[in-house]
Amino acid sequence: MCSGSPLAFYFLDFFKTLLLIVLFIFPSLSFSGVVLLYHHVAEDTPALTSITIAQFERHLETIEKNGYEVVPLEILTQTSLKSFSLDKKVSITFDDGYKNILTNALPLLKKRDWPFTIFVSTKFVGVSKSYLNWEDLNYLKQNGATIGNHTHSHAHLVRRGANETDEEWLARVESEIITAREILNAKGHKSQIFAYPYGEYNEKVRDIVRKLGMTGFGQQSGAIGPSSDPLILPRFPLSGVYTGIDALTDKLGSLAMPIETRYQPPLVGDNVRPSLKLKFTDPMLGLERVNCFGPGGLMEVGRISDTEISIKPKRELPVGRSRYNCTLRHKDRYFWYSQLWMKKNSDGSWYKE
Ligand SMILES: [Zn+2]
Repeated sequence: MCSGSPLAFYFLDFFKTLLLIVLFIFPSLSFSGVVLLYHHVAEDTPALTSITIAQFERHLETIEKNGYEVVPLEILTQTSLKSFSLDKKVSITFDDGYKNILTNALPLLKKRDWPFTIFVSTKFVGVSKSYLNWEDLNYLKQNGATIGNHTHSHAHLVRRGANETDEEWLARVESEIITAREILNAKGHKSQIFAYPYGEYNEKVRDIVRKLGMTGFGQQSGAIGPSSDPLILPRFPLSGVYTGIDALTDKLGSLAMPIETRYQPPLVGDNVRPSLKLKFTDPMLGLERVNCFGPGGLMEVGRISDTEISIKPKRELPVGRSRYNCTLRHKDRYFWYSQLWMKKNSDGSWYKE
């Protein structure tokens, strides 16, 4: 037999021990999955939800150049939540199922043989030339796409209708998701991944996603780690003004903020400057260096204890959706966490899109 074997085993043990030490010192470092979110990849679509083809290609080149592996969303999620993943994994997702994914994004993804996910609202599949049809989705599936659930009619799930009881509203929400799931299943798309339209959720809607056994994705930024909430997982929206390469590089390298994740209701009531409390699992990270941005810019960060901070915006939250974005620099990377807020009009009505 090979006389080098004992030495090889020695080195193997050595590296295993080294890895365990590294993971002990940096418990959150190696287990972060990053999900990118796009809508349109085109030049002639609304800027707010679009990235140009050239810039999308630069994104793919940046992913490639920095040595990230693009993996299917379900694999990235499962491994990141269970701490099994190694570093530098990323998933690419598209919401709404626009035709330009087929015409503009697919050629660039196919060239690299990369998997991706498209969250579709089933009512809109093939409804006009702007949307992918079922044949397109089959073709995309054959070329690396997973098709996920984005409800049937792309409804604002958190909004109870004026004439609805709570029960009727929640039955409608459930039916939105189940109808989409049944249609997708019948077409051979059996994935259990779900993306909230507009990234909007609340506790009751989130409970329905849990009850249906699905994994939920929002539109708040951040990386996925073992403490992430599997019902409202973060994704980085990359449209409009958020398509720069430097920012993308930071996002790709982001790490899940090592906090005990607590569900925080996103609907803003009378308290128009809501505080966000973050409890860190590792007090050695230097919590005084946490930076949070929200309405009014850089936010006030107060220390509650060795492991807990409280964040408050300088200004009142505006009507509509807003977010607190918190980062903590770690060498050349950032721990990243974001919280969604929704604020109604002063008369209690919902904001327009
Ligand atoms: Zn959508």
